[in-house]
Amino acid sequence: MRLLLVEDDELLGSAVCAGLAQSGYTVDWLRDGKAAAAALKQEEVEILILDLGLPGMDGLSLLRQLRAGGSRLPVLILTARDTIDDRIAGLDSGADDYLIKPFDLGELNARLRAIARRKDGRATMMIRHGDLNFDPKAHVVTVAGEEIHLQAKANAILEALLQRPGTPVSRERLEQILYGWGEGVESNAIEVHIHHLRKKLGKQRILTIRGVGYMIPKS
Ligand code: CA
Repeated sequence: MRLLLVEDDELLGSAVCAGLAQSGYTVDWLRDGKAAAAALKQEEVEILILDLGLPGMDGLSLLRQLRAGGSRLPVLILTARDTIDDRIAGLDSGADDYLIKPFDLGELNARLRAIARRKDGRATMMIRHGDLNFDPKAHVVTVAGEEIHLQAKANAILEALLQRPGTPVSRERLEQILYGWGEGVESNAIEVHIHHLRKKLGKQRILTIRGVGYMIPKS
């Protein structure tokens, strides 16, 4: 899952980036509200983690601009201003959740998982597909009860495909999920991960839709 962090505090930003990368997220980090607004017009991310006090454009203005433009991007606000008024303003402006600094990385992770579940309309953590059970938190897949461990990037691809069975996901979209903006993408990286997944889960599990992308058929 690809996240955008907008936070101007270097120490906090780098700690959050490192922690979330360790949890298997692809995290892009911007330090300026205006730069973030511009980036969000170009790039697709799945959750925005937004500080309120930012140079360029403050977090609340960015959030209001997003919602005014019709964006439904899930937004988690990070705020040091722990007054009730700020929290209410954030939620009223369309934030999905908020965390007050300082916060625990474990709690941030849990809130991101909750946002991801709501976004996908899933009430429970596990994704089931036929005899396959997928736990995005544990990075463990079971097929017919047998546990299979996946590499982090293969895990992220499987999650993206399982979110919409029967709908192809393009290679470009998968690259966006796996790699940050600054990172180079090897031309055959996605194919390598798909090959790995098929080897572990069975060839027929993931279909190649020529000229479109990859798809897990509806169960
Ligand atoms: Ca700040």
